[in-house]
Amino acid sequence: MDMTRYVNTFGRYLQKKYGEKVHKVSVNASFTCPNRDGTKGIGGCTFCNNASFSPGSTKAGAISDQIAQAKEKVSARTGAQKFIAYFQSYSNTYGSVEDLKRYYDEALAQPGIIGLAVGTRPDCVPEPVLELLATYQHQGYEVWLELGLQSSFDHTLERINRGHTYDDYVDAVNRAKAHGLKLCTHLIVGLPGEEPEESLISFDRVVALGVDAIKIHPLHIVKGTQLARQWRHGEVTELTMESYTDVLAEMINRAPEDLLFHRLTGSGERQYLLSPSWSMHKWDVLGLLYRKLENSCQTSN
Ligand code: SF4
Repeated sequence: MDMTRYVNTFGRYLQKKYGEKVHKVSVNASFTCPNRDGTKGIGGCTFCNNASFSPGSTKAGAISDQIAQAKEKVSARTGAQKFIAYFQSYSNTYGSVEDLKRYYDEALAQPGIIGLAVGTRPDCVPEPVLELLATYQHQGYEVWLELGLQSSFDHTLERINRGHTYDDYVDAVNRAKAHGLKLCTHLIVGLPGEEPEESLISFDRVVALGVDAIKIHPLHIVKGTQLARQWRHGEVTELTMESYTDVLAEMINRAPEDLLFHRLTGSGERQYLLSPSWSMHKWDVLGLLYRKLENSCQTSN
């Protein structure tokens, strides 16, 4: 299965640009998030249990130690010698610029680190932060700003308690682009109250704004979240693998040629995941997606 026949993957982009494999290594700099510390809210997004989507990065320690350990593991598995430090847990621009610079500088100083991927919320990227990220890009580092949007519909954002609007996201994209930053947007398929058509509309809207990349995963219902309580009360319908791969195949088919896909699915962690159980089987999901892409290609030929 060569997914790159149909999908412009981030891995292929990096391989082409650097002439060798480049992998992300997760870093936990012990940030929090304005949707948890009371600035925007205290409960967080209804689906969020951060430990469940970055389980390998939950033990915060010195950034240099985290990177050294992660590099060793990834390198043993893939042979990669170049890496991007991925600030993944919580909102990784939520701090003073001085602190952020200290964290990012420490990461970039580690051997083999060629860049940064910084995950955050659209309402957490003030100008000084964008300026800081742009300075790294000007120095030749591979810099990605990853904005969590999940849905472009304000009624959904409200329902999942995101604490920001679609307009906040549009504003963040426009300002980041003005600094020349590369942007990846995170979307979730199967959010409560959303039909596949709404996921596709969100995708179209994000692409129309000119983002460089997309990261997609199905809605995971994980322990310790408000969503889990809603699911137990039968208030949330779970997504099927069939429906997820249909939506994903359609997104890939309508994507502009230069749009990168940083991720096509998320593999739920057994210890936290309540539903859908199929999401634990990443290769089954990708296999089904591949067959659908193959079929749609044959149909259009
Ligand atoms: S998903 Fe992100 S923005 Fe939402 S509560 Fe969790 S860390 Fe905060």
